[in-house]
Amino acid sequence: MKQEIIPSVLSENNPPQPSDQGCCCGDDECCSVAPETDTRTAGELSDSVYALLEGLGEDPKREGLLKTPERVARSLRFLTRGYTENPEELLKNAVFTETYDEMVVVRDIDLFSMCEHHLLPFFGKAYVAYIPDGKIVGLSKLARVVEVFSRRLQVQERLTQQIRDAIQNVLNPKGVGVVIEARHLCMVMRGVEKLNSVTTTSAMSGQFITSQSTRSEFLRLIKP
Ligand SMILES: [Zn+2]
Repeated sequence: MKQEIIPSVLSENNPPQPSDQGCCCGDDECCSVAPETDTRTAGELSDSVYALLEGLGEDPKREGLLKTPERVARSLRFLTRGYTENPEELLKNAVFTETYDEMVVVRDIDLFSMCEHHLLPFFGKAYVAYIPDGKIVGLSKLARVVEVFSRRLQVQERLTQQIRDAIQNVLNPKGVGVVIEARHLCMVMRGVEKLNSVTTTSAMSGQFITSQSTRSEFLRLIKP
């Protein structure tokens, strides 16, 4: 028996919180961040954005840009809120003893991250699988681990490995497989301009490395 789960919502346990001050762009969720989960100072960040606008040759005092520094600061805090959460702790809180020992696959996990080289988004899908060894984890937590690591400045290669390692460390399963397919705006919008290029990375452990049939089964299960 193979178990294949398609998560409906990535962050059902952690929906975006409405912002206290609302949002100048008219979408309350776009710049929102739960204040209690993020103690970084907004002031310094918005000052930096102000300086950035000046550096670009813009006039931060013109009407359209008046609230941009604060708005961008809040947006950036939201997009990097993964620094305030510990993925392994998050997994530990949802571990159950279970004898199920076939592959568990969660596919099509939406992923939004920021490339640390250009501070531009990359986004796509993650596919996460593991083979339990006496312990299973709540399925939504696998998607949450992807989310927490994604909401930091990243390179796709490291992101893929971090997801694998967190699951491996907490569950100590017979193996973990992670595949990420993503499009990078730094490739699409800058010089290279490869509009449809998709970058694929994978990170495996245990039976996903030692057993060709396990690896093939995983790759077959995540095919569209
Ligand atoms: Zn980049």
